[in-house]
Amino acid sequence: MADERRFRGPVDLHTHSSVSDGTETPAELVRAAAAAGLGTVAITDHDSTAGWLDAAATGAQVGVTVIPGMELSTRVEFASVHMLGYLFDPANEALVAETTRIRDGRMRRAEDMVRRIAQDYDITWDDVLAQATEGATVGRPHIADALVARGLAEDRSAAFAGILHWRSGYFQPHYAPEPLTGVRLIREAGGVPVLAHPATGSRGSVIPENRLRRLVDAGLFGLELDHRENRQEGVAQLRAYAARYGLAITGSSDYHGAGKPNRLGENTTDPAVVDRMIEEATGAAPFYA
Ligand code: AMP
Ligand code: ZN
Ligand code: FE
Ligand code: FE
Repeated sequence: MADERRFRGPVDLHTHSSVSDGTETPAELVRAAAAAGLGTVAITDHDSTAGWLDAAATGAQVGVTVIPGMELSTRVEFASVHMLGYLFDPANEALVAETTRIRDGRMRRAEDMVRRIAQDYDITWDDVLAQATEGATVGRPHIADALVARGLAEDRSAAFAGILHWRSGYFQPHYAPEPLTGVRLIREAGGVPVLAHPATGSRGSVIPENRLRRLVDAGLFGLELDHRENRQEGVAQLRAYAARYGLAITGSSDYHGAGKPNRLGENTTDPAVVDRMIEEATGAAPFYA
């Protein structure tokens, strides 16, 4: 019931820590959330739940409720599709096996990309490892940080616009399951799946309705429509689909610390949507402040 709600807004449902490619530890991230005036923050590192407990411990100290989550890497052919999962069981065997496989694949892919880049630029795999926390989900942002450290790029954004761009000739995709598998894995682990930043396609192109329909039938909960990288044409189309299929709409920052311009709380989610999420989830509860 709404009046029994124990979490407070504003709610930001998508952030990254150094457990993946954010620049702050989970504890620093939650402190930053408190400083930004958030009442509730979800920690959604790429393919990892390793930050949950540290985030929760800090949340209890600073009065911020932490929603445990993850941004699961999925893909359709060469296009990467991110699936946010919330409040699932972090020990679920199928999900743990899949995220382990994805993280291993990311590591090999990063090494492969660095091998290619090293043919043209002065950079080594050790440079990249030096930029990632032990056990972190490795991604292009860590390669970007290594390029910056070597003076080969101004900042992460410049690296992504140049050497790390998918058209640069150095880009490699990494292993990831299909989005439908992602939705099923999250639901089977008792969680709630939300399609991350689904309107970033050029010229406003979005997931075709028949594909979206299959995700909805498998248990998709919502669409992250309030996100700075979504394009308005795509958002308008997806709002219509959300109404048609009863999907929730979320908003969030996709904060990566100093690694991206995105600021905590720049987009937020209606607390009523979080209530529904908590009602549907059976895998984990929020860490209430
Ligand atoms: P990867 O998953 O390894 O392909 O890298 C994608 C990650 O890099 C995502 O988490 C993005 O948020 C991040 N990213 C993408 N573009 C940029 C950018 N221009 N600046 C900083 N980070 C970026
Ligand atoms: Zn990221
Ligand atoms: Fe993403
Ligand atoms: Fe993200």
